[in-house]
Amino acid sequence: MFIEPIPLNKEIKGGVIYRFDVLQNVDSVFLDAKDMAFTKVELGGKKVEFTKTDKTISVYKKFKKDKSYKLTIEYLAKPKQTVYFLGWGDTIEGNEQIWTQGQGKYTSHWLPSFDDMNEKVEFDLFIQAGRKFDVIANGKLAVVPPQIDDNPVWLFNMEKPMSSYLLAFAIGDYSKQELASSSGVPIENYYYPQDSARVEPTYRYTQQIFDFLEDEIGVSYPWQNYKQIPVRDFLYAGMENTGNTIFSDGYVIDSTAFVDKNFVNVNAHELAHQWFGNLVTEKDGNHHWLHEGFATYYAYLAEKEIFGNDHFYWKLFETAKELQEISENGKGQALVDPKASSATFYEKGAWALVMLKDKVGDEAFKKGVSAYLKKHQFKNVTIEDFIKEVELASALNLDEFRAKWLLSTEFPYEDVKTFLMAKNKSIQTFFRF
Ligand SMILES: [Zn+2]
Repeated sequence: MFIEPIPLNKEIKGGVIYRFDVLQNVDSVFLDAKDMAFTKVELGGKKVEFTKTDKTISVYKKFKKDKSYKLTIEYLAKPKQTVYFLGWGDTIEGNEQIWTQGQGKYTSHWLPSFDDMNEKVEFDLFIQAGRKFDVIANGKLAVVPPQIDDNPVWLFNMEKPMSSYLLAFAIGDYSKQELASSSGVPIENYYYPQDSARVEPTYRYTQQIFDFLEDEIGVSYPWQNYKQIPVRDFLYAGMENTGNTIFSDGYVIDSTAFVDKNFVNVNAHELAHQWFGNLVTEKDGNHHWLHEGFATYYAYLAEKEIFGNDHFYWKLFETAKELQEISENGKGQALVDPKASSATFYEKGAWALVMLKDKVGDEAFKKGVSAYLKKHQFKNVTIEDFIKEVELASALNLDEFRAKWLLSTEFPYEDVKTFLMAKNKSIQTFFRF
């Protein structure tokens, strides 16, 4: 795919070539494409009949089973959301940014693609931008654009398939800190050129978190590299685009601020999603625990590694009290409820994993997690896919766990309290006196 943002018009001029094999005879294929004008639609290099709505483009042809096809689409998009252009209308020099946020917003606003997470594609991205800007996207920068070109093209190559919502790019004026994990994965931490004194406190423990997660999860980091890019006015804490986390520049902090607010949890959370969400992706919203519960859980473990046991158990205690209150007010939700709140998916979701590990033991838990990831890598998953692997690894029947932690709307506070008292002396003391 080729993308040329036109910031003054807030438009994206683009082209995409999809190569695909047809699994069964069909008369048409469609892609999600929101409000686009198409300037070229070709199949195998020849014009082809197509129709469009405000949400899709359909291409008509007798597609034959087991044949390969090449679909070329050129277009102009004016995204109402998903791509954000900041700082282009003002007179401030160097504050211009363009970046994407695809989760829940749909990449099909700027690229004809697949809103259904079950369609995984191996993408390669060509992005053209003005010479003074850095372009950061998923994958490995294959060609460093020549400095003499006014509008250089950046080519990013990916090797593995992923869902469209994880595609992302950021364009702006950036410097970067380069690290590597102990396993040799390149890590790039981006920052605004004026923020060099904030690099160390902002990205403190990054390598340690990375090494810890690879080891704790028990499956190698699945992508070619890892990048973290702060942007302005981001609506969330961070977004785990594949190998390419974009986060709120509110987390760019100095040493003094570190104690009150730091990036450590978000850093670990988005990194954990690279396995839980990106490598294995939920089939649909009924399985959202597999994303947020897992990312929250592994981020807490990373914090435990850095800040110690007391920090970890007291943090869990805080969330338990919060969840108990929700539950007592009759507002508790089941983890399998696709409409559950973030307290349910994130905090109750993390708790479910804490208690599952406690039930089956560290070894069986880790064995189950890594079997689950390996078996379903680059595919889509259900909660049952995960539970089955833990049952196999532990030789236990987990029906009781399913009922108590996944299906029930209540929060099992007494179980949790007993667990915390057994694990942590200061919490034990707190309850005793
Ligand atoms: Zn998350």
